[in-house]
Amino acid sequence: MRAVLVGPPGAGKGTQAQILATELSIPKVSTGDIFRANVSGGTELGKKAKEYMDRGDLVPDEVTNAMVKDRLAQDDAAEGFLLDGFPRNVPQAETLKTMLADLDSKLDVVLELRVDEEEVVNRLSGRRSCPECGRVYHVEYDAPQTAGRCDDDNAELYQREDDREETIRHRLKVYRDQTAPLVEFYENEGLLATIAATGPVGEVSERAMAAIREKASS
Ligand code: ADP
Ligand code: AMP
Repeated sequence: MRAVLVGPPGAGKGTQAQILATELSIPKVSTGDIFRANVSGGTELGKKAKEYMDRGDLVPDEVTNAMVKDRLAQDDAAEGFLLDGFPRNVPQAETLKTMLADLDSKLDVVLELRVDEEEVVNRLSGRRSCPECGRVYHVEYDAPQTAGRCDDDNAELYQREDDREETIRHRLKVYRDQTAPLVEFYENEGLLATIAATGPVGEVSERAMAAIREKASS
């Protein structure tokens, strides 16, 4: 299974990617997580990405595409993967298509998570993330068992720097201008499945699994 999740920031891509990747026994590849790990590790890649991430802009395509190419060349991605946060614009989607064609491969499904903008702002302002495993929580909608601590590894949860209201609004504009055109792109490729990403996390996962299975078998 080679799948992509598309949706605005806060749609629940990271939350669902974790659940769906486990269910489908494929690795989750989150470009945002890889960038954040590089920023906190102080690598050259992290230094290149940080200023864009802090503003809520996209990191330049040549940096992002090279990083994804390296990641998808690793052994664990040979039989499948679930991409979260990539592609983020049409040129990245074209690059991914070429990258996979070079490996005699192609995508099976692109799942669009649909949610309206006000809901997204509420979700992102209460988001908390685990620095160790990347698991995502919400202070109200998906709270950890012990406040401020990850259920899986007890690490102290943190709030992302780009989850400030002003940056959230800018990221939504970037989504509308640059990422939303992917919906039509993948519709034309015959790969798109769309679900409502509202309601309890478990119900969204069930909807997502059904949509992925149906599209991938069609
Ligand atoms: P994305 O990766 O698309 O930016 P996340 O998965 O990080 O989104 O989710 C953003 C926030 O919304 C997190 O705080 C998460 O706990 C919360 N969230 C995710 N799914 C739901 C849902 N179905 N209902 C309410 N809150 C949700
Ligand atoms: P995310 O965790 O998906 O919300 O991504 C956080 C930030 O990482 C984004 O606002 C971008 O600055 C950067 N980023 C993640 N994925 C990409 C991508 N595919 N292309 C460009 N920038 C990206």
